[in-house]
Amino acid sequence: MCVYLLHFSEPISPDHTAQHYLGSTEDLTRRLAEHRAGAGSRLCEVAKERGIDFVLVRTWQGDRGKERQLKRRKSGPKLCPLCNGNHSGQLSLFFDFSLADVEGLEF
Ligand SMILES: [Zn+2]
Repeated sequence: MCVYLLHFSEPISPDHTAQHYLGSTEDLTRRLAEHRAGAGSRLCEVAKERGIDFVLVRTWQGDRGKERQLKRRKSGPKLCPLCNGNHSGQLSLFFDFSLADVEGLEF
């Protein structure tokens, strides 16, 4: 089980300025494919409709308990290395991640 954070390339809508989606899954590869197809969450569905892209920016080892703990902090932008801007030199890493990298991707 892992918890993952998606960063959308732009706000989903003027009313819904969230640019992050935090979820947890047993199978990250399949889950990301679902999200790419616009399934799995309303946010991803709308993003797909509007042609808004997303990247996987971070993963944590953990289950739904970990997901809830991170959600309680309501700090998507703080958790996100893209929004923090401290990792701009590593940007390509996020766009070209391979699944082998994901396991150890922790900041
Ligand atoms: Zn972000």
